[in-house]
Amino acid sequence: MKKSIAISACLLGEKCRYDANDNKNERLLKALDGHKLIAFCPEAEAFGIPRATMDLVQTPVGKRAISNKTNKDLSKPIEEYAKIFFDSHLDIDLFIGKERSPSCGVTSARLYDEMKNLISSKETGLMAKEAKNRKITCIDAEKFIGIS
Ligand code: SF4
Repeated sequence: MKKSIAISACLLGEKCRYDANDNKNERLLKALDGHKLIAFCPEAEAFGIPRATMDLVQTPVGKRAISNKTNKDLSKPIEEYAKIFFDSHLDIDLFIGKERSPSCGVTSARLYDEMKNLISSKETGLMAKEAKNRKITCIDAEKFIGIS
């Protein structure tokens, strides 16, 4: 049955990464053939391309996306994008996120403490978190195609 799948745009070949590259994955595209794909990229929308990188950091107010350039909390625009995206796509059956991304990773985002020590590699990025909050089935792309 044809599914509506929300998917990180970089996986489809959009050059929306921080370094203006993509994460195109032919194997994934083949596996998704025939489904309705709805691409998203919260970071490109909020911060442009190219842009500084960010990390998910455990802060006193929770897990936040912190700029590696300015040390500012960049979470709000990502969270707002996610809310608007899911509010305007109510038919999504599945969320496929780019693994390890602080925005799109589902069970693979890296979490650091405020000294930038790695404390977990199994976290949920801010966009994926909103999908989970809405009870959408979520999976990292690598897991979807069975390579992790
Ligand atoms: S992982 Fe997510 S935020 Fe990063 S480039 Fe891909 S779609 Fe954009």
